[in-house]
Amino acid sequence: MNRSVLRQRQAETKSRLLHQRRDWPPEPPEWHEECARELLRGAQRRAEEKCVAFDLDLSDIEIPELCPVLGIALTPRRPAGQNHGSPSLDRIVPSEGYVRHNVAVISLRANRLKSDATPDELRQIADWMRSQGVPTDGTERECAWCNSSRPDRRLEAPRWFQNTRGEWFCHPYHRRARNQQLRRARVRGAT
Ligand SMILES: [Zn+2]
Repeated sequence: MNRSVLRQRQAETKSRLLHQRRDWPPEPPEWHEECARELLRGAQRRAEEKCVAFDLDLSDIEIPELCPVLGIALTPRRPAGQNHGSPSLDRIVPSEGYVRHNVAVISLRANRLKSDATPDELRQIADWMRSQGVPTDGTERECAWCNSSRPDRRLEAPRWFQNTRGEWFCHPYHRRARNQQLRRARVRGAT
């Protein structure tokens, strides 16, 4: 490709990017407005039930495309009903109520997990789950030797064991068996 063609393409790309920027920010999806009204009504109702402060109007409720906590897409409630991605109004500090600068639209999933927990409590829960060998990303883990989906319950403290290749095992014996198998394969490969 010669230089003038390259320059031409660069100019085209630049003008396209500039044009795109003029459309920024994009129009929010139609369902956002109705959803914001619903969130506002719900917040007002709960503020009365829970006797917490309420001082919001529609302009305080902006629905982002993604959950700012979990990064999952926020989705309309209808027609699918409530789900993990349903927008929900979080009181950042619950006791301060539904007031400006104390609310954020996050996914229902994130809101339920957060509940009224403190940051330290959530960290303690995460640390404990990791110590029990729960996979960090929610995928099912399998023993690379016996395909069991749980650590061996006969162990005093059942947990997952990992070898240097990153494979997981339900019991240290299974890790040893697998490592021996790998060693034998290496020896065979070398001779
Ligand atoms: Zn196993």
